[in-house]
Amino acid sequence: MFDRLSSLVIAVTLVAIAAIFATLTGGDPLSIAIMALAGFIAAATVYSALPVPLPDAPRTSAAEPVLPPAISLLRHPDFAHWVDQEKEPLLGIADNIVTIANDAAIRLLGRHIVGADVRTAIRHPAATDWLSRIDDGAPLEMVNLIDFPRPGARWTMRIAALSGREYIIFLSDRSAIDAADRMRSDFVANASHELRTPLAAILGYVETLQDMNGETDMATRSRFLSIIHGEAGRMQQLVIDLLSISRVEADRFRRPTTPVDLAGIVGTSIAQLCDSEQARAKDIVAKLGEEPLPMLGDQAQLGQLAHNIISNALKYGHTGTPVTVELTREGRRVRLAVSDEGDGIAPDHLPRLTERFYRVDEARSRSVGGTGLGLAIVKHISERHQGQLDIESELGKGTRVSVTFPLAT
Ligand code: ADP
Repeated sequence: MFDRLSSLVIAVTLVAIAAIFATLTGGDPLSIAIMALAGFIAAATVYSALPVPLPDAPRTSAAEPVLPPAISLLRHPDFAHWVDQEKEPLLGIADNIVTIANDAAIRLLGRHIVGADVRTAIRHPAATDWLSRIDDGAPLEMVNLIDFPRPGARWTMRIAALSGREYIIFLSDRSAIDAADRMRSDFVANASHELRTPLAAILGYVETLQDMNGETDMATRSRFLSIIHGEAGRMQQLVIDLLSISRVEADRFRRPTTPVDLAGIVGTSIAQLCDSEQARAKDIVAKLGEEPLPMLGDQAQLGQLAHNIISNALKYGHTGTPVTVELTREGRRVRLAVSDEGDGIAPDHLPRLTERFYRVDEARSRSVGGTGLGLAIVKHISERHQGQLDIESELGKGTRVSVTFPLAT
């Protein structure tokens, strides 16, 4: 209520008034003097006990915060350092001029872009359109650059706004993702097409048999039934191969950890082919050696790999010619090689043989019960086992398909 000094003045005044009043009313002068002294001492004690007020804090205004001086991120030395480490193209722009570009951006757009207007640096209608609206506060959306920098490719452009009229532009190549999407949809379309062909044949022959209402002779009937059986078998094989390829693809990043014997696996595959209805199985010449060949692998997948390569050699090799299946140690690896004497494959087809549904001669493949997936499955199994697949062929002479795998040490 009162500050320290006012309290002291009031206390001293009250003591003095009390002393004067006591003197005027005829009090004992000694008692009055002692009482006045005690009053002064009490006032001084209270004064010293009162809290000392804190000095006034400097005045600050909430409306005017004290900010560090503004600096440009684009001119900061750490920014240039960061930009250079970025693998994807990145540009810094100030007042529409490219002030900084990393190596990836220079590789993509050319060295001349630094110092140039950004609308001429990124030559694409969608980019130019967006960059012309940048100062009108256009929302910082992602822009698709279709057919950039060449037909068939697609990049995206993202923009981050800094203070002032400064921006960072990020460019990202989406072409590989688009290609993977395209491959996936092509695969579904191809698989549907492959299934539709035998299905149409089956439906056709069943309807014909129904229309004939039992009036067909036995020979025609059994011919139709055998075609239906064959087409259903093709569909079944296709479904088996489709399931295999999806399983093998799903396992692609899981390294096999089970110790297996490759010689035993290949031997079993040959025995299974000999037991099957494969007419040419007797043409197989096995050179598997005596010693076990230990490796880390998936027994079923390696069996399928061997089966697919050997049955291709039997399918496409000339009747009565040998199909040689050989296992050889090559240092710390083992090579499985299957050679046939057939028409061979022209060199331009070789790089595409492991693509799904790729066939050199579609009619020939179908006539021998091929699905066009055998070598794609082989490639995936080989990759999962750190294998190296090689296909060598000479037109008119034959083909040799081989895979090498690391041996377990
Ligand atoms: P398919 O089921 O048609 O045999 P693959 O994926 O196993 O499919 O093989 C793809 C294509 O590669 C085959 O259609 C065939 O044209 C060719 N090919 C594979 N192996 C051989 C071979 N040993 N000799 C000649 N051509 C082959």
